This record gives sequence, C-alpha cells and structure tokens, in this order.
Amino acid sequence: MNLLDGLDEAGRQGLGKAMYDFAADLFPICRSITGNGIRETLGRIKNQIPLDVFDVATGTRVFDWTVPKEWNIRDAYIADSGGRRVVDFQKCNLHVLNYSVPVKERMPLEKLKAHLFTLPEYPDWIPYRTSYYKEEWGFCLSHSQMARLEDGEYTVCVDSTLQDGHLAYGECFLAGRSSEEVLISCHACHPSLANDNLSGVTVATFLAKHLAGRDLRYSYRFLFIPGTIGAITWLARNPEAAGRIRHGMVLTCIGDAGGFHYKKSRQGNAEIDRAAAHVLRHCGEPAEILEFSPYGYDERQYCSPGFNLPVGCLMRSVWGTFPEYHTSADNLDFIRPEKLAGSLRVCAEIVDVLENNRCYRNELPFCEPQLGRRGLYGPDAGSEEIMARLWVLNLSDGRHTLLDIAEQSGMVFSRISAAAGLLCQKGLLSVSTDGQVKSAAKAEAFHPAIPKTKEGSPN
Ligand code: ZN
Repeated sequence: MNLLDGLDEAGRQGLGKAMYDFAADLFPICRSITGNGIRETLGRIKNQIPLDVFDVATGTRVFDWTVPKEWNIRDAYIADSGGRRVVDFQKCNLHVLNYSVPVKERMPLEKLKAHLFTLPEYPDWIPYRTSYYKEEWGFCLSHSQMARLEDGEYTVCVDSTLQDGHLAYGECFLAGRSSEEVLISCHACHPSLANDNLSGVTVATFLAKHLAGRDLRYSYRFLFIPGTIGAITWLARNPEAAGRIRHGMVLTCIGDAGGFHYKKSRQGNAEIDRAAAHVLRHCGEPAEILEFSPYGYDERQYCSPGFNLPVGCLMRSVWGTFPEYHTSADNLDFIRPEKLAGSLRVCAEIVDVLENNRCYRNELPFCEPQLGRRGLYGPDAGSEEIMARLWVLNLSDGRHTLLDIAEQSGMVFSRISAAAGLLCQKGLLSVSTDGQVKSAAKAEAFHPAIPKTKEGSPN
C-alpha cells in the first residue's frame, strides 16, 4: 500500500509535478475564511476527489464563537492623483488587508499611512495581514513600495462586501470497514500563500486520491476548512463523528525544503503520535518531534480539553520560524514538487501503520516453533527478515502491537508487518481479540460523554 514504493524515478517526479501543478492552479485565488475564494478552491478540490461542501449561515453559534459575515472582494487599489494605481490587488491579492470592509475615499498620504502595513526587515516582501473579527480596511505592500509613495492625495478603493452569507467547508469521507475514523484536516483560507495553506491542501487531496477506492480498515475524513472558525464549526456540528475519531493529523507548511516536524497531540502518547514518530525516524530526512502546545493550527481545537482528540500536526518548517511565513515570499518558488511528494509518502506510511497496527497471538508460544521446516528460517539466520519473524513471534502475546514490536526491535514497521502477515499465512500467528478489546476500551475512555459507536467488523 506504500505510496511511491512502486514508482520509478520518473513516476515519483510525475507525482511531485502533478501535486505542484495542483497547488499552482489554486495559488492565484483570493481565499479567506468565508466567501467565493474558498468556494472556488473547494470546487477545484472536488475535481480531484469526492467532496461534500457545506454552507453554514452567518450568525450561527458554534460553541463560544459565531459564524462571521461573508466577505467577497472584486477589486482594491491605491491610486495617485494622476489616477495611476500604485498598489493594485489585481497584481497580488496580499495587497488588501484580508476581510477589509469597503472603502472609496480620497486622502493625503499621512492619513493613508495609518492603513498601510509593511515589513521593514524584508523591504521587498508584502506581508499577509487579516482583520477577521474587527471591521477595518487596509493595504499591505512592500516597504520599498511605500518608500516610493510621494506626498499628496491618494484615492483608496476596496470594492468588497461584508454581508450575511455563509461559511463554506469541504469534507471528503472515505468509508472503511470500521466506523472508527482517521481525521486529516487542513486550512484552505489563505490567499496566495503556498506553503502555509496550499501545501497542506495539496497533500491532503492527493492522500485522499491515493486512499479512495481501497479496502480500508478505518474510515477517513478529510476536512478542507477555514482555520480556527472552520474547525470550531465542524466540531460544533459533528459531535458524533468527532467521537469516532481514533487518530488524526493536521497538515500544514508541508511543501518547503525543510525537514519534518511532528507536533504531538495533547494526549502526547496516542497511537498517531507514536506512528508519526516511528515513520519520521525511518523516513531518511531530518525530522523532529515537538511536544503539544495550545497554539498553532487547528489541532488547538481538536485538542481542546472537551474533545481531547488524538490529533497531531505534521509540518516541514514550523510556522513562524521561517521568514517567508505570512509574506509574499511564501510563493510557488518556496515549495517544491519533490518535497510535496515526500510529504505525501510520509503521510501514506503513517496511514499504513494505523491500518496494520494490531496485536497478534503466537499460536505456538511454548518454546520457538520450528521455522526451518516451514521455510521460514535459512542460512542467513541473522538477516533482518528472519529477525523480524523472531521478534513478532516472541512479542505476540496479545499485549504488544506491531508498532510496539517495531519500536522494540528497532526495525521499520513495514518489515514487522510483512513478517506478521507471513506468520499468519503459515498458521503460527493470529489476530488477538484481546488486543482489540483493549484498544476499544482505551478509545472509550477518551470520550466518556460521547455515545459508543458501532464496532466495525473484526480486522
Ligand atoms: Zn497562516
């Protein structure tokens, strides 16, 4: 099931290019937490994977929050006294303070400056700023661009609307054998920013494409949502589905050239935390595991104490640690085809661990079974393949999962999982039902207030 394993170099490059092209196609759209930009983005995702789009009305209460007014923008500019556009939204959608209220006024430069945002430390970059929950207007521009503005009168125009409407989000649900779910969540609310926003959208879309149509143990739910308010809205509307989440990841900033970072869930030692750490340890790229903190992306909502879902956050460079973050330099040059493909591969391997991690029982636990006469032992007795069989047989006592065995043996999960498959075929190993009972009891303890869901078929 591992993605990219069956691909040669040309195939890997082709996949990376297809992912990059998809991000490039979405890049020009002016997205925000509501409005037509995110709707158009969801429409293009829907061309790739099955997607249900939901609209939630302005004013809807979602826990302690309220779904905001819908923002749409057609044009925005600052023009000098000669009518020449000196700052133009049509050239770069970061130029407008995202969620700006409409304005059409003439004013002197001194007054205008109170509404201008720049980055003096990176004078050629345009910052990305928002004003979601405060009605304001403004422009973002490069510091050098501002320095060139001469004293005089300017016309400012933001041709936007901020009205009652809807918040839109998209869900791709892939049914598995069990009703228990794996959540993959990404924000799709930033305008032309590539790593922060589109890399997560792209990897999630291609992961859904990869999993669609497969025989899956878990059901998978992919959310394409506006950051913060989207996750809060989804959780408020879907308490039963939230109660079925057994593992989850937020994907963000995952297309740049940096090494991987995985931020653990609030639980800290959930199966997803261990699976991600295991895959990253063996992925062949630099990787770091970060402890949970109540800041960052939508894991903040999934890991709020009332839900406490096992949802971590997979990134390459961590938001806020690279200067391009939330600026015009987070563009299509900042993400790379091979990094998008590498991130997809890591996600697919994490899914592989979740799909195959379970407890087994050694059917002949009294002394070692005779492997030689079953063709399971050869002259290369110390080989990893044979060692994997010995590890699985020894630790399959109904209490150790395959991930436990992989960690204790130091071997990669796929090796251990392949050994377990072979030993099952040979009748030396069987799935331990004790292990499943134990994991179901553990899952229930996470969600004491949420009704128990139907168990899936044994797998
Ligand atoms: Zn951001």
